[in-house]
Amino acid sequence: MVNLSVAEQENRIQQLREQLGNQWTHLDDEYLVQFLIARSWNVDEAKTQLENTFKWRAENGVDHHPVATTENQLPVLYSVRGFSSIPDSNLEASAGVSEAVLRINQYMGGSCLHKTDIDGCPIYIERLGYHAAKDIAKKTTIEEVQNYHIGCNEFLHRVIMKDCSLTSKKRINRETVIFDCAGMGWHQFHMPALQYIRAISDTDQKYYPETLNKLFIVNAPSAFVYVWKIFKGWLDPGTIEKIQICGSDYQTVLLKQIPAENLPDFLGGQCKCEHMAGGCVPSQGK
Ligand SMILES: [Zn+2]
Repeated sequence: MVNLSVAEQENRIQQLREQLGNQWTHLDDEYLVQFLIARSWNVDEAKTQLENTFKWRAENGVDHHPVATTENQLPVLYSVRGFSSIPDSNLEASAGVSEAVLRINQYMGGSCLHKTDIDGCPIYIERLGYHAAKDIAKKTTIEEVQNYHIGCNEFLHRVIMKDCSLTSKKRINRETVIFDCAGMGWHQFHMPALQYIRAISDTDQKYYPETLNKLFIVNAPSAFVYVWKIFKGWLDPGTIEKIQICGSDYQTVLLKQIPAENLPDFLGGQCKCEHMAGGCVPSQGK
């Protein structure tokens, strides 16, 4: 990691603004900083990554990806709990949810965007241990899963991050992630399925840089050490620094970052979300 003084950071932001020109004045400093940090504050490289991102967004119509809001009442792509701009909801078969999204979720262990951490960042929880990894690889395509992931990212950034920024009165552009490995077995270490994770992390690192606050991998079985060695090779060093891997003694680690009332009780917190079908994180596994 490059450590620059605040004055030098401001200087680089200014340099990047000058190089980008008038067309990009709508981008705020925080967004530019995501690209500068991702490229170790190298202005030329940050500019290239930013231009590539906008080229990719235009070519793939990403700005026009529909996202659920209270006003448009579009369905959510995964479960949501605890935000003021969208009612608590579960993913359900309804008009506006594609067959591919339902099929993908059938093989996933369960996921939810669940409340916020001490920094005001939204928390995404995924029950990795209940994934039907071989079915994901066999019955869905990488393109389908990537498209689904982009839809989730757009909802997260355009709706939820805005919500969190208003609530905490500062710009929130990062999420905290918990991957729960409870139930994980060797069947999940399936190379074709791991390639899906690689494709997704590539997209995130290229086009959604520096959007991770913290990542906790909990209930990690000892076999996870082998997979971790593979994952590490796919990730930026800055991302690796934000990841904590815990076995079954994760409770105190999570509670340092997440208030007990915002952490599901199955992860050592006090939240049960009894008002929602499936509780905090509806799951196929339990
Ligand atoms: Zn809950």
